[in-house]
Amino acid sequence: MYFIANWKMYGDLKSLNSLNRVIKFSKKYKKKKIKIIYCPPYTLLDSFSKKLKKTKIELGAQNCHYEILNGPFTGSISPTMLKKIGSNYVIIGHSENRLAGETNDEINKKIKSSIKSNLKVIFCIGETLIQKKRKLTNKILHQQIIKGLFKIKNLNKILIAYEPVWSIGTGVIPKIDDLDKNITFIKNVLKKHLKVKNPKVLYGGSVNSKNVENLVTIKAIDGFLVGGASQKAKNFIDIVEKTII
Ligand code: PEP
Repeated sequence: MYFIANWKMYGDLKSLNSLNRVIKFSKKYKKKKIKIIYCPPYTLLDSFSKKLKKTKIELGAQNCHYEILNGPFTGSISPTMLKKIGSNYVIIGHSENRLAGETNDEINKKIKSSIKSNLKVIFCIGETLIQKKRKLTNKILHQQIIKGLFKIKNLNKILIAYEPVWSIGTGVIPKIDDLDKNITFIKNVLKKHLKVKNPKVLYGGSVNSKNVENLVTIKAIDGFLVGGASQKAKNFIDIVEKTII
């Protein structure tokens, strides 16, 4: 079971203290099959990386440029830079970036470069509210998967995060039946069209310690991508505990 903390544009050096609690907690559960991944903003990657050494918790970044190594791209970070600083994962295709103009084509290039840089990719997909209302969810998910993963070989290095855009930061989550169907649909696209043997699909969107007990009843879910509720150690630990007990 994966638990990914996406801190978005929050956190400073003081927030490193909250990690101690989670590190202690992760030691208690080292025999369970739990993978915790922290994705803080770029400014905290180095400090997190040092703090997470000798722990089971892994580090991820929230985005990267598609250029593998270096280049004249002011304000950007390459996947190689992320790897060198201790990241093992990178989130790509988050809806907050798609809404800011990131295309499926750019996402595809970023995924290719990240894999070449030896990063694992947390690839976000999801429909908007209008698309859902127009019953376009399956079409959109299919398109995002096929375009985002076009000509990518190491598909076992990819975790899909299904994040309906209308659920992110809104407190609204999908109906359990709908979510079950959508996760199963995504897995089927990966199996049938891309020949992925054992696809991993996480859910993200307003997950908290109250609704997670219900969400985890969906057998096909392989974990959660948690935004707001991951910023406080107690909330994040509660989510993990309620899932594994
Ligand atoms: C996210 O940003 O990926 C996310 C799931 O956010 P939240 O949990 O706050 O909805």
